[in-house]
Amino acid sequence: MIIWGSGGGVCIAGDAGTRDCPVCQSAQRFDLTVSYRYAHIWYAFSWVTSRQYQAVCSRCHNGVALTKQEFQSRVSKDPIPAMRRRGWVLIPAIVGLVIVVGAFQEWRQGNDIAASIATPHAGDIYFADLSKVVKGFDQSPAYGALKLVSADGSTLTFVAAKTAYNQKRRVDSDLRSGKVGADDYFDRDELVTLSTDQLRQLQSSRVIYDVNHNANTSVSGNTKNTTGEPTTASATPTLAADYSRAVMQAVQTQWIRPDNTPATSCKVRVTQQPGGHITGVDVESDCPYDEAGKRSVVNAVRRADPLPYQGYEQAFQPTIVLTFASMYDASQPSSASSPLHARAAAQRNDESL
Ligand SMILES: [Zn+2]
Repeated sequence: MIIWGSGGGVCIAGDAGTRDCPVCQSAQRFDLTVSYRYAHIWYAFSWVTSRQYQAVCSRCHNGVALTKQEFQSRVSKDPIPAMRRRGWVLIPAIVGLVIVVGAFQEWRQGNDIAASIATPHAGDIYFADLSKVVKGFDQSPAYGALKLVSADGSTLTFVAAKTAYNQKRRVDSDLRSGKVGADDYFDRDELVTLSTDQLRQLQSSRVIYDVNHNANTSVSGNTKNTTGEPTTASATPTLAADYSRAVMQAVQTQWIRPDNTPATSCKVRVTQQPGGHITGVDVESDCPYDEAGKRSVVNAVRRADPLPYQGYEQAFQPTIVLTFASMYDASQPSSASSPLHARAAAQRNDESL
C-alpha cells in the first residue's frame, strides 16, 4: 500500500532588518521566511511543491511578499530541511541498491553453481525448475531441489524432489525448515543423469538457479575418495562427530572394566537397525583382551541397546566400530580419564536405510 500526502511549513531564514509595518504602523524588525508545501510518499520520500518568500513582522506576523531574487540575495542557504526537499532521492537510491544487491546475489549464485558443477560432491543440492529437467511435473515452473547422489567423471546422477512449487520461496522455506534434509523428500526410484555440460547449459538458461552445499542431508550410498578409503557423504562432519560422541557415551557408561584389562585398545563391530536396535556385536580378532575383557565390552554394548538414534538419523550407520581403550591406572579412579573411544566407522552401504 502506498501512503502518500502533503504538508507544509514555515522556515525563518534570517533577519530582514527593520522596516515600517503597515499593520503595527511603526518600525518593526522583520524576519525573512519561506513558507512551503511538500508532497510525500510514505512520509520519507518527499519533495517541495511550492514556496512563498516573505518578510514577516516579528510583532504582528503579517507578511510582505518577496520575490525569489530578493529572498535569495539575502539568504544563501536553503532553510527548508533537506529531508523535505530531497527525500525523494531515497526512492532511486533504494531501487538502485535493490538492483545492485540482486545482481550481486545472482553473480554469487552463478559462481556457486559453476564451482559446484566443476567439483561435484555427493549431497550438493541444486535448485531448478524441475519441469524442464524431470518428467512428471506438468506445471511450469515447478521449482524444486535436485540432490546429487553420485558423480562419475562428467556424469552426475541426481534424485529429484517429490514436491515442486510454482514459487521459489516455498522451496526456500522447505530448505529452512529442514524438510529438504529428510530422506523421503526425494524420489529415490527415479534417478536423473546429467552431464556437466548439460548442467552448465541449465545454469546459463537459468533453469538451475541456486545451489546449496551445506544442506544437512544424507545420500544413500557412499562414494570413494581419491585414496580409495571408504568415505561417507551421509552427514555433516559435526553431526557425525556428535553421533560418535553420543554412541561413545552411551556405551562408556555401561562398561564394567575388569581390573586386569590391558592399556591397549579393542575394537568391537556393532551392527544395528535404524532406531539404534543392536543386531550384532563382534569383538575384532585382533582384540588383545582376555575372555573376561572381551565379555565386558560385548556386555557394555548390549546394555547400551538401543544406541542413540533420534536426532542422529542423518548420521546413522548400520555398522559401526567402537574402539574401547583402557587407560586404567590402579592409582586413579577409572572415571578420571576417558577410558573409551568410540568411532562410528564409515561403512560402505548401498542403502543406508
Ligand atoms: Zn507588524
